[in-house]
Amino acid sequence: MLLLTFKGKIGKILNGVDKMIQKPKGTYDILGDSSDNILYLKKIIEALMDKYNYKYFKTPMFEASELFHRGVGETTDIVNKETYDFKDRGGRDMTLRPEGTAGIVRSFIENKLYVSSMPVKAWYFGSMFRYERPQAGRYREFMQFGVEAFGADDPIMDAEVISIMVNFFKILGLKGIKVNINSLGDKESRENYRKALLDYFKPYVKDLCEDCRNRYEKNPLRILDCKVDSNKDIMKNAPKLTDYLNENSKNHLEKVKTYLDSMNIDYIVNPSIVRGLDYYTHTVFEVEADIKGFGSQNVLGAGGRYDHLVENVGGPSVPGVGFAIGIERLMLALQAENIKLGEEKNIDLYAFGYNLNDKSYLMNIVNLLRMNGFNVEMDYLNRNIKNNFKKADKLKAKFIMIVGEEEMEKNIVTIKNNKTEEEFKMNKENIVEFLDSKLGGLDES
Ligand code: AMP
Repeated sequence: MLLLTFKGKIGKILNGVDKMIQKPKGTYDILGDSSDNILYLKKIIEALMDKYNYKYFKTPMFEASELFHRGVGETTDIVNKETYDFKDRGGRDMTLRPEGTAGIVRSFIENKLYVSSMPVKAWYFGSMFRYERPQAGRYREFMQFGVEAFGADDPIMDAEVISIMVNFFKILGLKGIKVNINSLGDKESRENYRKALLDYFKPYVKDLCEDCRNRYEKNPLRILDCKVDSNKDIMKNAPKLTDYLNENSKNHLEKVKTYLDSMNIDYIVNPSIVRGLDYYTHTVFEVEADIKGFGSQNVLGAGGRYDHLVENVGGPSVPGVGFAIGIERLMLALQAENIKLGEEKNIDLYAFGYNLNDKSYLMNIVNLLRMNGFNVEMDYLNRNIKNNFKKADKLKAKFIMIVGEEEMEKNIVTIKNNKTEEEFKMNKENIVEFLDSKLGGLDES
């Protein structure tokens, strides 16, 4: 990813001040190649979402803090992330969204979408904010593409959602991915398992890290998610959730597997996938970058089923399932596999005036061409002829248009094919047709 900032002397010259203002820690600028890549990814996502009939949702980047920090489930927060919290000028507690699901769920309830015909299938794309320690693949503002499907408890919905993520990566040409799925079971299974974990860890609590000691009180399931204690035998020998799944939960998982098989999607059932959040039920999944040397932040996207979340946020009982993919990590993975996104954007024609005081005639033609669908760049800096030709070469312009006094007087234009160096003179009225014939068809000359 190309991340550019002006540093040192250039900064001083540009700003005329000694201290240059820099971007906040853990953020980055999108420009150059990376802006082309992001826009291209967005286009692919839009086209992909049309295929699956998901609708674009845009929810606010900040929400009432209580949406994220509230008494839900076994712990206090719906989102257990370091959030950016602030009071607005009206004294209201607000939070920059750390993820997309809560906002979409809020919107689903507030707009009473549950009365519409189910399922409601939504997608989103945008910035998320978390006050985390920045490192490669982990930022304080980052982008996610995510989907949420409400209203279907059938495992076929879980399988569809997983397949969207996998197919998205496949379309982009990413090869090194590993799909991990697991089941957290339904409420009953979770409760039985919770009890088993409490019994099991009771004698070992003092040997666990501080976070895990807290987790023991609040949500023992999260102990299994611990990075500090993960290698200890106590963790390895802990009861497995799979052994506590009831028939309903087992059936759900088996069906998800069958449907994934039906789409030839490779996966492994990985009991250590428990996800950071409390709201998941049944299926959870993570897709990892399986690329040598990729680094520790290798989960490209993750998601799962949340059958009680809508209810917990104050809506009716409506099941849901979704995922979120980190766009930056995806870009890093594409880079690691040397995958180039999109086609190079070409300039069809570069235009400049020769000894013109009034450039109205030039401007008129440039405008006409742009309105007719051609990519046109022009000289704004009154360069000399030599430098204009150089600029056209740099832009890889296919044609060059020169307008001087003669052209203006005769209502004509001079156009040069920048590859063959052929020169054409024509009436202004014929230029669109001419360029169409040269650029529109197979004839690239
Ligand atoms: P989560 O919402 O935590 O389940 O994360 C879903 C995906 O978002 C992850 O798999 C990452 O690709 C991405 N992600 C999460 N946190 C960050 C972050 N701080 N910086 C960059 N990407 C992130």
